[in-house]
Amino acid sequence: MSKHFIVVGAGVGGLGVALRLAHRGHRVTVLEKSDQVGGRNRREFVGQCRFDAGPTLLMMLDPFRKLFADVGEDFDALVPHRLCDPSYRVFFADGTRFDGTTDRPRMIDQIKSLSGDRDADRYLAFLDELKQLYEASIPNFVRKNYQSIWDFASPAQLKRVVKHRMLGNLASRVEKWFDDPRLRMLFSFQTMYLGLSPYDAPWVYGTLAYMEYGEGIFYPEGGLARISEVMAEQVGRRGADIRLNTSVRSIEGQRVILDSGEILEGDVVVANADMPYAQRELAQSSPKRQLRYSCSAHMMYMEYEGDLPGLEHHNVVFGADFKQNLNSLFHDLKIPEDPAFYVCISKRSDVGAAPDGLLNLFVLVPVPNLDCPMDDAAQARLEDSVFSRLAKEAGFDRSKVRSIKRRGPRQWHDELNLERGAAFGISHDLFQSAFMRPQNRSKSNPDLYFVGASTVPGNGLPMVLISAELVEQRLIDDGVIPA
Ligand SMILES: Cc1cc2nc3c(=O)[nH]c(=O)nc-3n(C[C@H](O)[C@H](O)[C@H](O)COP(=O)(O)OP(=O)(O)OC[C@H]3O[C@@H](n4cnc5c(N)ncnc54)[C@H](O)[C@@H]3O)c2cc1C
Repeated sequence: MSKHFIVVGAGVGGLGVALRLAHRGHRVTVLEKSDQVGGRNRREFVGQCRFDAGPTLLMMLDPFRKLFADVGEDFDALVPHRLCDPSYRVFFADGTRFDGTTDRPRMIDQIKSLSGDRDADRYLAFLDELKQLYEASIPNFVRKNYQSIWDFASPAQLKRVVKHRMLGNLASRVEKWFDDPRLRMLFSFQTMYLGLSPYDAPWVYGTLAYMEYGEGIFYPEGGLARISEVMAEQVGRRGADIRLNTSVRSIEGQRVILDSGEILEGDVVVANADMPYAQRELAQSSPKRQLRYSCSAHMMYMEYEGDLPGLEHHNVVFGADFKQNLNSLFHDLKIPEDPAFYVCISKRSDVGAAPDGLLNLFVLVPVPNLDCPMDDAAQARLEDSVFSRLAKEAGFDRSKVRSIKRRGPRQWHDELNLERGAAFGISHDLFQSAFMRPQNRSKSNPDLYFVGASTVPGNGLPMVLISAELVEQRLIDDGVIPA
């Protein structure tokens, strides 16, 4: 009863579905427009330096381990990785620094010296609340295909929602736990990984802070893109065909038409290309409702001469007024004047990423998506502001940048077909979460399924791997493949 599945896109979501289906003995063809697998999770090379193009934080190992275990492999053996400690160094605008870590006594000591006993005494109870939230939400709300509102609104589910205050406001809840504004930023900014302001986020996304402070941030040997490469190797070993440099023009029923004019016939098509784009452009179907989009990311991948000793592998830099920064970004749709940003030097954990005397310096600044395009002058102002802050915090010297590559909303859109250049897919606000998020089967084409960051459960590598689990489960529930 083997079927032919055509997967459009070799991002982590597409590779996850391809691996699961190929392992079951189905014929799988993966079509990828670019010359590399991985989508957002692929490699970038600038000068003599190697970078991960997008994701740099490996968190929540369970979905990675589960995928590999489900196909008879061992993630830890195939993708060796280690804990980053500190997880990241935080630079506050008042000059204080804080090293986030899973080491609880060290966290308590740092909180004590930052803001005193009251906040420090609350830290373990805060982590415990996050742990309970995590354990209640992942199996019951995240790893779940929704058929109707009743899958969300059953008495047992509602009891969990109320008990863990899942729909309360995240920023307000963190404010109840901690008095110090710097700690409030520290334990709430993680929603920015979803392209969402903590002031607009439900408390259930506090699970992200738990992943960091409860479980930790990891780094795989060779970088995060190595995960995509290993997945592709495993897909290939199971007989599936991955065709790179193969762009899909349209999906019509069970047929996939390539830009070249070639037509492929399958039994089922799984679109991994960003869902709103795949639906509008490839399947020519208009969405039933207006979707809202996450922010984007302005990236700078730099080959830097010398060292910046104050910087760790991962670094988070906050501007003076975090709330104002978030308002510019998410409400006024303006380029922030004094932005928060993230800096990564993976060479700290991976000496092969840059030769002696050079650093692979990666900077990610959250910016609005193409709803508010950034002109050259605005980009120059943004970069000036980031560089002068880096100079102040770590002695960065612009003249030591030997080569630089930039990627912003326009490139996220043009290179990866991310709708509106929204680097993190559709927004994760309350009304686009769980059963209200676009589900993984097309309403207009019964042979078309969706996998990836803009469908359920959402953005981030672990979520996208769960998205592949959910597609497999949906195919079983729909009677397309046996259990
Ligand atoms: C800057 C940045 C930083 C991030 N940091 C982290 C992090 O630290 N940790 C983390 O867990 N997550 C992170 N994420 C999120 C993570 O990268 C994404 O959630 C995940 O990679 C999305 O995978 P996907 O399979 O849904 O989509 P994609 O990676 O976008 O893959 C879709 C694929 O479809 C292909 N495609 C599109 N159109 C066509 C077409 N017409 N024909 C053929 N192929 C097509 C694309 O080329 C692409 O390869 C980050 C994202 C960004 C942008």
